[in-house]
Amino acid sequence: MQNSKVVIVGTGFVGMSYAYALVNQGTVEKLVLIDIDKEKAIGEAMDLNHGLAFAPRKMNIKAGSYSDCKDAGLVVITAGVNQKDGETRTHLLSRNAGIVKSIVKDIMNSGFNGILLVASNPVDVLAYVAWKESGLDKSRVIGSGTILDTARLRYEISNIVKIDTRNVHAYILGEHGDSEFVCWSSANIGAKSINDVLNDMDEISFNDLDKIYVKVRDAAYEIIKRKKATYWGVGMSLVRITKAIFNNENSIMPVSVLNTGEYNCEKDVYIGLPAVINRKGVHHIVKLPLNADETNKLKNSATILRNNLDSIKY
Ligand code: NAD
Repeated sequence: MQNSKVVIVGTGFVGMSYAYALVNQGTVEKLVLIDIDKEKAIGEAMDLNHGLAFAPRKMNIKAGSYSDCKDAGLVVITAGVNQKDGETRTHLLSRNAGIVKSIVKDIMNSGFNGILLVASNPVDVLAYVAWKESGLDKSRVIGSGTILDTARLRYEISNIVKIDTRNVHAYILGEHGDSEFVCWSSANIGAKSINDVLNDMDEISFNDLDKIYVKVRDAAYEIIKRKKATYWGVGMSLVRITKAIFNNENSIMPVSVLNTGEYNCEKDVYIGLPAVINRKGVHHIVKLPLNADETNKLKNSATILRNNLDSIKY
């Protein structure tokens, strides 16, 4: 990819897993790291540069400042803060929204005119905040949404049906959080519907699929319980989105986008929906024929997200 420049804001676990995957997959030409902790960003850039001798391409990696966003094709926000003792969710929400607001202001002051990708949590709410504060068109602000949850789902289904993960086509939609749901009615293995696949297999039933959903929904809790944070999977998910953008792929992925009425739920929210991604960002949202149960679940997710936005006055 020529002229591909990415700026990462937040060089913690998620930001650096993304950076490491970018370097190993030779995804972009230029990479700039920004963190409120400047020394951390400098140290991370040094460390990554020392791996370039073994990377698949020549790259320019450095720690930088917001002025580096001016000619970046993509800026990815992975900065985050954790809940403080005694702090409510709404407090955390408004603190994170404040951080994203100030980061986006600095990005836009540089003259940035590319695509913004938000991974910081709660990702749907923060993507909406980034969109509002940036003044960019909705097509150019994307949240990582349910792409990671979907990758987890595909992995679990693959294990059950014993078919390569890449042949599992199924989405988790809605909030990247507890109200997310599986769109089973559109799930396919290869070109075969998951219903038909299960009908051909005596040893598994739809109950097993429900167990998968719970496993996927609670995956982050399970990982955090054991290793305090999740980052490899999201890092690779962000690389996947990056490739779709810089390669102008028109690839479909479940990311957080503004619902412009394709789906029958609250419109003024960013929410995980399947979208076509290319060099311009979100080309369009793909409309899936949800069944009644799935429609209700999507409505529920959208209402939760709108309530969260209302609570921080967005
Ligand atoms: P972390 O604490 O390891 O890193 C956060 C980094 O952000 C730190 O280096 C910190 O110095 C930096 N930072 C904080 N405020 C900043 C500011 N104002 N400007 C610039 N940098 C700032 O956290 P992490 O594990 O990397 O997680 C980062 C975020 O990603 C969290 O919100 C987390 O919940 C989220 N996350 C999202 C997904 C997803 O699927 N979208 C998955 C996992 C984690």
